Parts: sequence; structure tokens; C-alpha cells
Amino acid sequence: MNTPPTSFQGRRIEQQVQGQATRDGDGVKLTRVLTQAHQRRLDPFLMLDNFGSDDPKDYGGGFPDHPHRGFETVTYMIAGRMRHKDSAGHEGLLQNGGVQWMTAGRGVVHSEMPEQEDGVMEGFQLWLNLPSHDKMCKPGYQDIQTENIPEFSTHDGIKVRVIAGQSHGIRGAVQRPIAEFPTDALYLDIHFENDASFQQALPTQHNAFLFVYRGSVNVISPGEKSPVALHRMAILRNEGEGVEIQAAAGSKVLLIAGQPLNEPIAQYGPFVMNTRDELIQAVDDFRAGLYNS
Ligand code: FE
Repeated sequence: MNTPPTSFQGRRIEQQVQGQATRDGDGVKLTRVLTQAHQRRLDPFLMLDNFGSDDPKDYGGGFPDHPHRGFETVTYMIAGRMRHKDSAGHEGLLQNGGVQWMTAGRGVVHSEMPEQEDGVMEGFQLWLNLPSHDKMCKPGYQDIQTENIPEFSTHDGIKVRVIAGQSHGIRGAVQRPIAEFPTDALYLDIHFENDASFQQALPTQHNAFLFVYRGSVNVISPGEKSPVALHRMAILRNEGEGVEIQAAAGSKVLLIAGQPLNEPIAQYGPFVMNTRDELIQAVDDFRAGLYNS
């Protein structure tokens, strides 16, 4: 496709990142796309994992009971299922195309156990930070089944699933008061069903990145067209009106953005607080069995 001249001031790419192969939980093979090295730059996002395999051995023993405090985990299943149970008594089965949005707050202990479908399991887990005033909030979770995720299609054949935030007037599945959740996260899953171009408005101060999980895409900015290959994360500059993404039919990309918290980040494994003392407290409380809400 020839990209028509555009007056849209799209963000340029600041950096491209190749994920790191690792294992987590009880031996689950995954690619860590957003690592601790990017936490400051991509504030309020702390981590993005991409798991996917057609070999059940790669899921190992899943993620048996483990704690979290101080942030949110957002799990998006593309294929297969994930069964979760937590210490607050919640249990759910996350299915193909569904999202679990868990707010760990002052502490949960949960298990996340993959269940394959036709041998295939694929999905993402994003960690989103909480502001200091919310880190000790009551834990909560929302299970959003695929049919409850708002979608729209553009006239030239791009399907957009709006998990959180808002796109082209369509409000996403997760909507929260900004005062309580100032990260104001945008989470879109964009499917190119034709060779076409998609524009998304973004506030300049919001940190944003995209991750290509099928095909490849181009990021279009005035006078520039920058390719992003499969399984690459592109960190976008804080500039312009938003982002323009062009791709051939079959490409799929996640677009994620949020308002940075600009607070200190102290992480010890599954605990993310503001200070080292708060981390020590988090571990002590976990050992004392206080994560049962
Ligand atoms: Fe977890």
C-alpha cells in the first residue's frame, strides 16, 4: 500500500526491544517483553510477558500459589484457558479472548493454571502499577469474557478490541475513575483484516508502546515509515497527536499507553511498592499470612 500523505502527527519510535526468553512460575516458558530495565521509561507499566506454545511441556506446572502486592495484573488470553483462584475466594476461568484484571492492592495469594485448547496456549500478562495512595487498597478483580470486550471495525477493515481506555469513541471494558486510578490505561488489540492504516490519539505525556504478535507493522510519522517486526516491542516517543500504525492483512498488534505515576518504584519479585521499607513489610505480612482479605 502507498501511504497517503497525512497531516496526523504520529509519534516516532524511540527504541525497539526484543523480548527475553525465560521461565517463571513452575517452569512456564515465556518471553519477557517489558523488563525491569524499562520500568522507568514506560511508567506506569512494570512488565509484559508473552506466553505461547503448542507444547504442553512448555506450560510446566503453571503458576501455583504466589503473592502480589501494590499493583495490578492484566491477563489477556488469545488461545487456551487460564484458571485462577485467590485467597479472597475468587475463582474464575479465563477463556479465549478474555481478560482478567486483578488489582492486588494490599495483597492476594493466587494461582494461575494454564489449560490448553487443542494443544495451544497463548496470551499476555501486563503489570500495571498503582499510585502510592492505592497500593494498600482492597484487592479486587474483574473477569471479562471475550463477548464483553467492546470491538469496532474501521471502514477499511481494521478490527479493534478495546480492553481499557477509549478508541474512536468506543469505551473499553475497563473504565475506572481517574482520581482513583490515575494511570488511565489504554489497552487495544488491533487486528488488520486488510492492508490499512490506523490512527490512535494519545496524550503526549502518556507513555506508550506497541507489541507485534502476528505479521509485522509500520509506524507512520510525518515523512517516516518505520517497520516493526514480529515479536518486537516498539517504545514510542512522547510527541505528536498519537500513533499511526499501518500493516498488511493478518497482522495483529497490542497498543498500550498510560499516564506515568512519577513515583519511586521498589520491586522485589511479586511485590511492587515505593520504598524498601514497604517491601520488607510486604514480605513480612506475606510470611505472617496476612494476605487473606
Ligand atoms: Fe500472579
